[in-house]
Amino acid sequence: MSKSIPPIVPMSSPDLTDAERQAVLAVLQTPNLSMGPQITAFEAAFSAYTGFRHAIGVNSGTAGLHLCVRAAGIGFGDLALTTPFSFVASTNALLFEQAVPVFVDVDPLTGNMDPQLTAQAARDLHEGGSAAQRWLPRKGAQPGAALKAVLGVDVFGQPADWDALHAIANPYNLSLIEDSCEALGAEYKGRKAGTLAEMAVFAFYPNKQITTGEGGLILTNDDQADGLMRALRNQGRAPGDTWLSHTHLGYNYRLDELSAALGVVQMSRLEELLLKREQVAEWYRLRLSRIAGVTAPCIDKNTTRTSWFVYVIRVDRGVNREALAQRLADRGVPVRPYFLPIHLQPYMVERFGYQPGDFPVTEDLGKRGLALPFSGVMTEEQVDLVCRTLEEVL
Ligand SMILES: *Cc1c(COP(=O)(O)O)cnc(C)c1O
Repeated sequence: MSKSIPPIVPMSSPDLTDAERQAVLAVLQTPNLSMGPQITAFEAAFSAYTGFRHAIGVNSGTAGLHLCVRAAGIGFGDLALTTPFSFVASTNALLFEQAVPVFVDVDPLTGNMDPQLTAQAARDLHEGGSAAQRWLPRKGAQPGAALKAVLGVDVFGQPADWDALHAIANPYNLSLIEDSCEALGAEYKGRKAGTLAEMAVFAFYPNKQITTGEGGLILTNDDQADGLMRALRNQGRAPGDTWLSHTHLGYNYRLDELSAALGVVQMSRLEELLLKREQVAEWYRLRLSRIAGVTAPCIDKNTTRTSWFVYVIRVDRGVNREALAQRLADRGVPVRPYFLPIHLQPYMVERFGYQPGDFPVTEDLGKRGLALPFSGVMTEEQVDLVCRTLEEVL
């Protein structure tokens, strides 16, 4: 591998101001560093923003997804329909409970779960026998296992087709979990991402739309699920438990006060942050439309607002993505293949026997997707530089 020069543009960058720095410093003036007024304020901001009754702060998006899986009662051997075109956490949350993810391939334009395939899979799994068999992995699933849930992902800031997913889930009483970790601020037919299922999760790693350093948050209107998830994030302590009594097997998934304070300020700036990201995406779109060999992201008609998370272009079928990525890196433009399909990750191949060709649309997107440097603090000059470099090396 040839050596690359240091990046001339960062791959991603948080958007922080003195307000965030002051808020974190203020927490350090108090003795309360975990589960105090800041997490309460952070949660209240999400309830106000979404209209959902319960918002539960946790220390990562992955932790949030895991608690949703627990609250939905998804356990050993249970099946859940989900997507192989996602960050691994959406699938891992199921594996933590020994459930079996049943993948359905995705829509080639959005990269979100294909509703027709999802409907077919739900029907076939309900019927059982050989109809069910063709959706199950080659190994690792129990015969006769029950389908319990649909775990959909709003990929790259575009919501999945949730009306269709509801219609699929309702007749079979399936739980619906929305992984909205990439879509805070997005809208589907005018409704906010994160409000489109029974439970939803946002995440706040530094490359997300808002950041808390590390952090996540669950939304639900279900009082019972809320009570259980609040207990589980705090070592299984139910209301009435003392510090050393534990009703449930729980976790330490608490969000600390420093992170929550950062999040409160970020959340108050949400609209500003989203608009800056929209502007950067628009600068990219205009320039990329004139460059042959690559395609800018496609926006679905149901996405009434895109919330830009990463900026993933597609290289044409004739273009060698790896060579392109290397030449860009050599000129100081960091890029990343996006996503490597979940079913082909080594631990998934080992456990379930997946093979290349199992999910062709996901694999095609996985081979052609290239994330360009992207953040709300990028300047038009930086976008210009990335695009000029891309054009030169193509
Ligand atoms: C970021 C992300 C998560 C959660 O990530 P954490 O690093 O655990 O906060 C989950 N699912 C998807 C699709 C993501 O992009």
